[in-house]
Amino acid sequence: MKLLEYEAKAVFKEHGIPIPLGHIIKSPEEFSGISGKLPSDFVMKAQVDVGGRGKAGGILMADRTKGEKIARELFAKTIRGIPVREILIEERLEIVHEYYASIAVDRSSKQALILFTESGGVDIETLARENPDAIRRASIPLLMNRIPPFMMRTLLGSAPKELGPVIQNLYRVFLSRDALLAEINPLVTTPDGPFAADAKLIIDDNALGRQGITQNRDLTDREREAERHGFSYVELSGSIGVIGNGAGLTMATLDLIEYYHGKAANFLDVGGGADQERVMHAVRLVAADPSVKVIVVNLLGGITRCDDVARGIISADINQPVIVRLAGTNEDEGQKILAGHGYRMLDSMEAAVRAAVEAVQ
Ligand code: GDP
Ligand code: MN
Repeated sequence: MKLLEYEAKAVFKEHGIPIPLGHIIKSPEEFSGISGKLPSDFVMKAQVDVGGRGKAGGILMADRTKGEKIARELFAKTIRGIPVREILIEERLEIVHEYYASIAVDRSSKQALILFTESGGVDIETLARENPDAIRRASIPLLMNRIPPFMMRTLLGSAPKELGPVIQNLYRVFLSRDALLAEINPLVTTPDGPFAADAKLIIDDNALGRQGITQNRDLTDREREAERHGFSYVELSGSIGVIGNGAGLTMATLDLIEYYHGKAANFLDVGGGADQERVMHAVRLVAADPSVKVIVVNLLGGITRCDDVARGIISADINQPVIVRLAGTNEDEGQKILAGHGYRMLDSMEAAVRAAVEAVQ
């Protein structure tokens, strides 16, 4: 789950990373309540979860006389499609230079990857493409609780030494918050020392409970509903809804859709021992996605009984066509029930997937 800039900055501050003095407002009217606490010049930053807010008009310079007017302007905007609900008002920094520092999970090496560059403030992906040598990297085993001095020297090169403790503290944030990414861009130097002018923190979804986060805000309503039912559910961009039991069978169904040049709308694994009600909820959930035009149900009966599955599909009572492939326990009974209600049953997953791909063409 991604934290907003001001939330990430609060975490950074707890771990000793200097951040600009700031206030959050949720409406233009709230500006007058804090204006007395503000310096004469400040920055207004839309708290939206998108990169490149600066370029998209989400960051405006302001002063006390124009503050409320500019807040009103910013609240009226959508930044790359996202409405502005909160604005972070921060003292304006006197920036000498912008650097970049980030720490991310590197899944292939199973270590933390630290990136640092003296060309900060810009989009790191662009920099990596256009001038990869400008980015210094170091990998650190996650069992180490500090970045060793030799590694820090390699990372910093000739950049100011005062950035060392900031990066060290960023590593503490990364470890203690179960982060997938902790990033400061730009990490700035000023006459008053270094500051995290921006902050990004992505928490591993599997660690939310341990981090005291009860709800993953990044989930769509349907993903949240799926979580409640204990389904493994991922939304994709196509129009063929997919329901399977077991991650392997469900993945194989997605692969087949791809193979026959279709596009899956989702991955949904109902899990083992699915009964009538579970199947019904799964079918309704997938059907609730407006981009789903047809649904393939590909289930193997073991503990799961095909007749239960059939009743589940029927009781879901949805508008889109459902193409079913069922095999295993009580297969014949399941087939009879579905056929009696006019559903299409096919014997193999290839045939079921092909029929679904044809149905959306
Ligand atoms: P992003 O565009 O979403 O990454 O937003 P940032 O918070 O990184 O801000 C983008 C740019 O705005 C920074 O690289 C700075 O150049 C500039 N900026 C942000 N805060 C300040 C500030 O307090 N003072 C000055 N002078 N520039 C700032
Ligand atoms: Mn930034």
